[in-house]
Amino acid sequence: MADQKRDYYDVLGVSKGASEDELKKAYRKMAKQYHPDLNPGDTVAEQKFKEVNEAYEVLSDADKRRKYDQFGHAGVDPNGFGGGAGGFGGAYDVDINDIFNTFFGGGFGGGSTSRRRNGPSKGANLKYGMTLEFMEAAFGVEKDITVTKEDVCPSCKGSGAQPGTAPETCPSCKGAGRVQQQTKTLFGMTMVTKDCPACAGRGTVIRTPCTNCGGRGRKIAKKQLHIRVPAGVDTGDMLPIRGEGEPGRNGGSNGDLYIEFKVKKHEVFSRNGKNTSCDVPITLAQAALGGEIKVPTIDGPVSYTVPEGTQPGDTYTFRGKGIPDKQNQNMRGDHTVKFTIEIPIRLTEDQKSKLRLFDSSLTEKNYAKRNSFFEKLKGIFR
Ligand SMILES: [Zn+2]
Ligand SMILES: [Zn+2]
Repeated sequence: MADQKRDYYDVLGVSKGASEDELKKAYRKMAKQYHPDLNPGDTVAEQKFKEVNEAYEVLSDADKRRKYDQFGHAGVDPNGFGGGAGGFGGAYDVDINDIFNTFFGGGFGGGSTSRRRNGPSKGANLKYGMTLEFMEAAFGVEKDITVTKEDVCPSCKGSGAQPGTAPETCPSCKGAGRVQQQTKTLFGMTMVTKDCPACAGRGTVIRTPCTNCGGRGRKIAKKQLHIRVPAGVDTGDMLPIRGEGEPGRNGGSNGDLYIEFKVKKHEVFSRNGKNTSCDVPITLAQAALGGEIKVPTIDGPVSYTVPEGTQPGDTYTFRGKGIPDKQNQNMRGDHTVKFTIEIPIRLTEDQKSKLRLFDSSLTEKNYAKRNSFFEKLKGIFR
């Protein structure tokens, strides 16, 4: 048997010198192609899937790979993988969720855990990353997105059988999906119940596979969705779209699609949860004399009277001018403006002399912080 085995590199379709990454990539591609979940009842695919797993198990292990390169199958297979030791019913090294994670950037939780049983199982959840402009996140937006996902094959309606034909009851297990098998253990021969190898536990086999999906019953498809993003979402927030994940199996419900948001920075406004803030530069004269100015909020500019004697770093908070609460859109955060004072530059000689004149007119009474600052210094260096 062992000498009939295909070369592991051929199995994965890579060259002898393939890097670890190339191996992994090839493995994922092949494992996906032949995964039993995607090829229900297809015993050829099941066999290929085992072969691919076996090849990868050896080639991904540096030590085993070296022995294999030197001695071929004999080098890594003293008792024979092919001798039935691996058998069916053993856990696969690869989980279907794991494969799709690499395609969709991580569907999570849920999904096809009871993947080789007859019972209904919920479809896998998917995640879709959506980047929003600051204002889109603040006030909500509607967007059309295209999701690429595994969907029920429209030709065979998911049965995997060519339209006009139907999956047949598996002759090996008579539809039970499970078979009794005699196995040699430490304690002698034991009867164990295993998933039926002929149908991978499904209880049905397909004689004439659907040509549209190759008998998998599902196909990668693009789907357009119209998404209403509520006001107030923030980076990292997830919006569940029920039932838009992957289809369930054996009558199980569909998984969900989760939209994960990333909110872009704004040129002027910063955000902390529902609250917004921004810096507002004012002139020396505005700060000293006070006066009416326009300050920006996310709703647009509002009038504000700068108080006489405003200092750099002074703030003012507008209640309810922040971002709507995503649970209750009528509740809004606050908006805080922080004043910075811009010192004039490139003064003319005339302006300079006027400023000197003005400065010489100032006394201690015109300053608050300076006086207490120099008082403190005196205390330190006395
Ligand atoms: Zn089909
Ligand atoms: Zn069967």
